Amino acid sequence: FDAEPAVLAAEDVAVHFGGIKAVDGFGLNLPAGRICGILGPNGSGKSTFLAAVTRLVSLTRGRLLLDGAEYQNAPPETLARRGLSRTFQTVRLLPDLTVLENVRLGADLHARGRGVRSWFRPDTTPEVVDEAIERTGLGTARSWRPGELSYGMARRVEIARALAAKPRVLLLDEPTAGMNQRERGEISELLRTLRGDGLAQLLVEHDVQMMVDTCDHLVAMNFGALAAEGTPADVVVHPAVQEAYLGK
Ligand code: ADP
Ligand code: MG
Repeated sequence: FDAEPAVLAAEDVAVHFGGIKAVDGFGLNLPAGRICGILGPNGSGKSTFLAAVTRLVSLTRGRLLLDGAEYQNAPPETLARRGLSRTFQTVRLLPDLTVLENVRLGADLHARGRGVRSWFRPDTTPEVVDEAIERTGLGTARSWRPGELSYGMARRVEIARALAAKPRVLLLDEPTAGMNQRERGEISELLRTLRGDGLAQLLVEHDVQMMVDTCDHLVAMNFGALAAEGTPADVVVHPAVQEAYLGK
């Protein structure tokens, strides 16, 4: 995994909030068409690491690279243009917009990063939006508003919106939180389909079985640092993971 060329690389990343070392010397390499999972107990720094990679918090130290080019000082609004999209741990949809319009925001964000100032673009290519909606199985719900969606559907709108920015790297923070087993299986299948298209994905999840079923590579975080990494089969039986994460 580490021998493959990385589309996304993070080196020795630290994010300190005053005296709290949320992330403290963590890094990883993510090749194209691969899914890397991050496991770790609550408070181990997973979301803060994703926030660092997407430039929503400043790095205390470390380097971030996309296709080998450093971007740790780039503003977050330039990242969609560079091919980096994300979903958040909590659903963030605009309640007055339809599914289609919410997904279009992702495409518009991509266009905006290219220097277009208006938020909504009348000329956004509908194809990429349609494709994102179809890929995520939301075709029948395209004119619905978030209040009419099941929780699982709302979470898929978030993924569709991220896909509408045509990313090469997709970061997902607990995309199946609150979902039942069937819905989790559907998301796992969706992520594996996207991998087949060459999309690199960084996935944070608590469901160990889903991580084993979905990921090519796992890293375990604890106290903001790397606790274990390797194949999913190796990492889930690693003593650090058994002890720190599974409480065994
Ligand atoms: P995880 O996603 O693994 O549950 P987080 O990255 O959310 O962990 O949090 C890691 C640590 O950093 C926790 O101790 C958390 O309280 C702390 N933390 C996260 N964000 C902030 C912030 N904005 N200010 C201060 N402390 C924070
Ligand atoms: Mg988190």
